[in-house]
Amino acid sequence: MAFQSPVGSPFDCLLIDLDDTLYPGNTGIGPALRRNIDEFLVARFGLAADKAAALRADLFRSHGSTLAGLIALGHDVHPDEYHSYVHGRLPYDMITADPQLAVALQSMPQRKILFTNSDRAHMKRSLERLGVDEACFDGVVCFETMNPHLFGEDAEGEKGEAADVDRPAVVLKPSVHAFVTALRVAGTNPRRTLFLDDSERNIAAGKALGLRTALVGKRARSKEADYALETIGGLRRAIPEIWGADGELQPDHNVEKNKSMRADLDAVIQPTSIQA
Ligand SMILES: [Mg+2]
Repeated sequence: MAFQSPVGSPFDCLLIDLDDTLYPGNTGIGPALRRNIDEFLVARFGLAADKAAALRADLFRSHGSTLAGLIALGHDVHPDEYHSYVHGRLPYDMITADPQLAVALQSMPQRKILFTNSDRAHMKRSLERLGVDEACFDGVVCFETMNPHLFGEDAEGEKGEAADVDRPAVVLKPSVHAFVTALRVAGTNPRRTLFLDDSERNIAAGKALGLRTALVGKRARSKEADYALETIGGLRRAIPEIWGADGELQPDHNVEKNKSMRADLDAVIQPTSIQA
């Protein structure tokens, strides 16, 4: 499971979010998604429009997503039904091709894992619009990957370990279970893994687990972000270390936090040769 570290880079792997990270946050996809979710709640549960919007916001805060909240509250909503309604009807032409992105991804020497809460069909359509081949990534962690139990598959993971009482009904970022899934796929040391996401909440969760973090879509860093970049197009300027320049690892003052959580992570992730 050990990887050849790219020479001179402090990172062996990049975990990269999709929505509002690989494409800009102002495409209009986000508002369209929120409208679709509200319409789903109106159509499926007969809510008034204003009640639907309030419920969506509440469930996002409490459970990470509307779908996660609905399932946790015991509603019989299949993820495919939900995703085909809220993602399937998105105006995908709002996402425009980004030839530079494909070039940049291919030029990065690290393992790259696409790490998204979205479903696989949405991921594929978004990448297609961006003009990025899924094969640019060494792995994809998406809704289906994090939630095999919702599709009638084994919920206990590859090793068949005992059921985890803390596991939420639906696993999504920022849950620790989501990051464990991603780091298993990545197979790398969290401290040498760079996590890029537009959500401050997700960035905070990643930082607490020892990841290096880059907040995308913001000019200024949040407290838990090691880097901030306004768009993914500014990656080479914001984090040249990815390509090996100035490859000194910055001192990390937050690593003492959440020691036990990180010990859990270390137990499931094989350390790379760097730590051995
Ligand atoms: Mg995002």
